[in-house]
Amino acid sequence: MALFPTLVSAQQYDLVLAGGRVIDPATNLDAVRNIGIRAGRIAAVSASPLSGASTVDAAGLVVAPGFIDLHSHGQTPENYRFKARDGVTTALEMERGAAPVAEFYTSREHRALINYGATSGDIAARMVVMHDTGTLLPRDQAVKRAATPAEHRQVLDLLARGLDEGALGIGMGIAYFPLETRAEVLDIFKLAAERKTVIYVHMRNGGPTEPGVVDALQEIIADAAATGASVHVVHITSMGLRETGLLLNMIEGARKRGLDITTEAYPYTAGMTDLSSAIFDEGWQQRQGGISFGDLQWAATGERLTPESFARYRKQGGFVAVHSIPEEIVRLALANPLVMVASDGIMEEGKGHPRAAGSYARVLGRYVREQHVLSLMEALRRMTVMPADRLGLRSKGRIADGADADLTVFDPARVIDRATFEKPAQYSEGIEYVIVDGKLVVNRGELVPGVLPGRGVRR
Ligand SMILES: [Zn+2]
Repeated sequence: MALFPTLVSAQQYDLVLAGGRVIDPATNLDAVRNIGIRAGRIAAVSASPLSGASTVDAAGLVVAPGFIDLHSHGQTPENYRFKARDGVTTALEMERGAAPVAEFYTSREHRALINYGATSGDIAARMVVMHDTGTLLPRDQAVKRAATPAEHRQVLDLLARGLDEGALGIGMGIAYFPLETRAEVLDIFKLAAERKTVIYVHMRNGGPTEPGVVDALQEIIADAAATGASVHVVHITSMGLRETGLLLNMIEGARKRGLDITTEAYPYTAGMTDLSSAIFDEGWQQRQGGISFGDLQWAATGERLTPESFARYRKQGGFVAVHSIPEEIVRLALANPLVMVASDGIMEEGKGHPRAAGSYARVLGRYVREQHVLSLMEALRRMTVMPADRLGLRSKGRIADGADADLTVFDPARVIDRATFEKPAQYSEGIEYVIVDGKLVVNRGELVPGVLPGRGVRR
């Protein structure tokens, strides 16, 4: 009788997650289920037991789609380790973006712990075209002068080529280019509309003082309306500060009028950027809602700045934390169903903002379990299916037959961030198992050595 053994082997899965509380925000499923994984895909979601070549006992744990971070500047092995331990299975550089895009992808192929991807970046492209010497962000050539018409044309060509090479959209950071004109920005919106892709934008201005964040969002909404482009406004709380509620009302209103506008926030009361960038041009205190030197914290040492150290470090360049976001604004954003979770994180040899290591566990532990700002289902929605839908990825961010087997298994009673501004390089706790492309990258709360299942996510 050959039939019976054939059937048995057909039902054998590579990996089974047994008896976990499966939460799938795409379908609102919240029930104990067994998940069978085969060849990198979810092959069964069942109330009945499944048999696998290996089995993870998920009893008492939540099984969720792997978290998708739309704003992850950190694109190195070090960063991918921190992301995995925070439950992130896909980390994307959508704001700065890449240029050239093909090189971004090929240099990570078969070398990444988790999935990666990038936009075709206006920040990156302008830095290349204008020969700026900044690393992550512009600091001289692209800041001090306007682009010539020829340079603007070259930037548009580079952006278009990046889209041809599989980029996930167009990234923009208008605030980093004080001389980027409104007409140039509008041209990029036209390109996004023609190519039916999404712009991920750091707006022109932040804070309450005009020209401020309200004008900046009006530019975005007007350009989206004029061109038909889809837009994602990055880190709404660090731009909006106390105007964040007003911005969210504007976005909601624009959506009601048929515009495709989405947004995101990270769960911290400080931002971080390069001290040598245009963000700290004259008047930065007012633009950041009335902060001062002591609200800036130099990432390399953890020291608070003075006028003297500000001047010294600004010349040198490097990351600085900007303590400018009121705690109630973080809660207001997370309570709003429009706001996705995204980290904006980057870690460099253990230095950086704690958001690079702790954003997702912090939302689940501090804001869901401890403060009840949003429900567990709702938090997971903002981390999984909402970013997947923004990206147009039907195979990610959900637990369904045939979906990519990127999964995060955590203890809802214990999950919490450990990274702080003083000691950012600390893994989150309570993230027990993380699966990327069907393979365990975190097992019993520890990184699995020697596995690199991450894949490039392309459009
Ligand atoms: Zn930004």
